[in-house]
Amino acid sequence: MTRIFQLLLCLSLILSGCSSQSDAPSPTHNQIDGEYIYRRHDESFVQIEPMVSLKRAPYPWEEETRAFPKITKDFFRCKGCSLNPVHIIEKEKETIRNYDCGGHLKHSLPLRDDKEFIHPILIDLLNYIQIQTNHQVILTSGHCCPDHNVYLDPSPANQASKHMIGAEVDFYVFGMEEEPEKIVDIIMKYYQETEKYQGLQDFLEFKRFDNGKVTIAILPWYNKEVFIKILKKSEGRDLDNNHPYPYVSIQVRYDWDLKTTVQYSWDKAFRNFHRW
Ligand SMILES: [Zn+2]
Repeated sequence: MTRIFQLLLCLSLILSGCSSQSDAPSPTHNQIDGEYIYRRHDESFVQIEPMVSLKRAPYPWEEETRAFPKITKDFFRCKGCSLNPVHIIEKEKETIRNYDCGGHLKHSLPLRDDKEFIHPILIDLLNYIQIQTNHQVILTSGHCCPDHNVYLDPSPANQASKHMIGAEVDFYVFGMEEEPEKIVDIIMKYYQETEKYQGLQDFLEFKRFDNGKVTIAILPWYNKEVFIKILKKSEGRDLDNNHPYPYVSIQVRYDWDLKTTVQYSWDKAFRNFHRW
């Protein structure tokens, strides 16, 4: 009986303790000390400028409102492919195996000042041709890395190709495949119309190249900056130019920005980076 009494006493003490805590008055909203901050609807510490809708600058491929994209240096990327079969050349004392490169997924364009580089005159001329003809330029061979260049044509004459240094391009114009002479006329017109060449006779005047060793049917044209060839259907065929049309080839002779002649060098050809 005593034990039950003790238990009840203990319980009553606990309950009374709890009830004494819950009875303490909690502060209400009106009892909190401090100063309220009131703001009227038209008060603001930061003046917010009204929003203006801005039109973003067009991407290079959006600048022309034509059905075909603007040509950029990306169009020049090497067309090599590691799936191409090995070319085996049997010589007297050895067998040479030429493998194609891994293509642009494995290596970059040539580099200048640590950036991928194609001579700008080639890009400008191709875009000018597209605008003048309203036909699409089909670029068949732009940059060829040294491996792809040997794979295309291992002859000694091709080992200093300017395709390797971003200074040569082969192309035809879709819808004007059989009229490459008209394209040459348009290139000459580019020099007549472009302001920076005005008064510079070396650039405005084109001559025919004939050193007695020209191996193609149509004599090339050249001014100070470019060298232009037309290759007939039976000429200049390789894996890149494996199509049934004549085509135009432009080589850069003179670097307008550096004011120097453009020549192949091992350093320029092999200066690119590899993607792994
Ligand atoms: Zn390549």
